[in-house]
Amino acid sequence: MKRVRLFSGKTILFVMLICHGVAAQQTGSPIFSPWKAGYLDIHQINTGRGNATFCILPDGTTLLIDAGAIDPINWRDNKPRNNPILPNDSRQPGEWIARYIRRVMPVKQTSGIDYLLITHFHDDHVGTPKHASRAAAGGYKLSGVTELAEFLPIRRILDRGWPDYTFPQTLRQDSIVINYIHFLENRKIPAERFVAGRLNQIRLVHEAGKYQSQFSIRNLAVNGDVWTGKDEDTRHVFPDLTGVSANQQPNENMCSAVMVMRYGNFDYFAGGDIQGVLPYGAPAWHDVETPVAAVAGPVDVQLLDHHGYADSQNGALMKALRPRVFVVPAWAVSHPGPAVAERLFDASIYPGERDVFVTQLFPEAEAALGPAAAKLKPETGHIVIRVQPGGTSYQVLVLDDADESMRIKAVYGPYQSR
Ligand SMILES: [Zn+2]
Repeated sequence: MKRVRLFSGKTILFVMLICHGVAAQQTGSPIFSPWKAGYLDIHQINTGRGNATFCILPDGTTLLIDAGAIDPINWRDNKPRNNPILPNDSRQPGEWIARYIRRVMPVKQTSGIDYLLITHFHDDHVGTPKHASRAAAGGYKLSGVTELAEFLPIRRILDRGWPDYTFPQTLRQDSIVINYIHFLENRKIPAERFVAGRLNQIRLVHEAGKYQSQFSIRNLAVNGDVWTGKDEDTRHVFPDLTGVSANQQPNENMCSAVMVMRYGNFDYFAGGDIQGVLPYGAPAWHDVETPVAAVAGPVDVQLLDHHGYADSQNGALMKALRPRVFVVPAWAVSHPGPAVAERLFDASIYPGERDVFVTQLFPEAEAALGPAAAKLKPETGHIVIRVQPGGTSYQVLVLDDADESMRIKAVYGPYQSR
């Protein structure tokens, strides 16, 4: 222990960073270090324009969950949206996401990402042809997923609609889905439907034998089908829709793909944009979080449902998940909502500490949150969960999203997995 006194406080931090898998550039600023076999890395990439979660699984299998690019014109008031594109507006989100992934991709893998999961068909998760300035040779517009594929091959896609895209009604009148299907057919990318209840529909494809006893992905819900907790059985929580009025039909968010990723004792929950806090008069089955809560055990880390918008993160789900760490994928002033932020820290729902990370926090959001804003971790940017081999412990690293330096702004943990 005497030797520690030879170092300054800053040096000790630096040595600790090295020990936990980050390197330093010559200026002394720590830089994110590459994935190694056995790590599970989960990158919440912040483009300011929607969700993109890039996962490198312990054997090097790569999974991207969503690649959003919001319509730059606000449909509510027909004015340009003011969210800046990060790191800057010289490129569009799909290309920025591809470039980020290329920087962290396992060296062995040059053939592209193994899986892309699209949780649901909204612009902030898949992109939109509306106001997209560029088109591919095949005629479809480039935005989000379709743009990303110009820069990075995708080997397999899972979505909630393949092959007919008819639930809860035909999706082939929706411009986002029309453009996406055009893309799928043109690029001939193998696709399949995300099926609730399935264990390892997304599976390790590189060195499965080494890690498959410790690693799994359980599909919890999609399209109103929810896992029962037994085998791969599901129950349908939506009613017969023939008698349901048009304004109460299931919306796109309620149909999101929901999953839990497990590595040893470590668990990560991602539920797309499902909701659980209902407006007056909505039927109870519009709450998808509560039936999901019934089959979701405690997790270490949760990606907030629906960006922490006011209709998400109900008490039943939070009590079931009891996360130690929350990641808020924010791109609007309503992310997270004030009541949601209060609930995240509510010890009457579950006791114990929790750390909440947001990719970005708008000044208006900060003002609306009041005292809860001070409880959020102060550093924003790309948020990376790095899980150690075997899933025993993990850290949270916040990376600078102002450029492509991969500079580390903060490191939290290690946290022990449950
Ligand atoms: Zn969304």
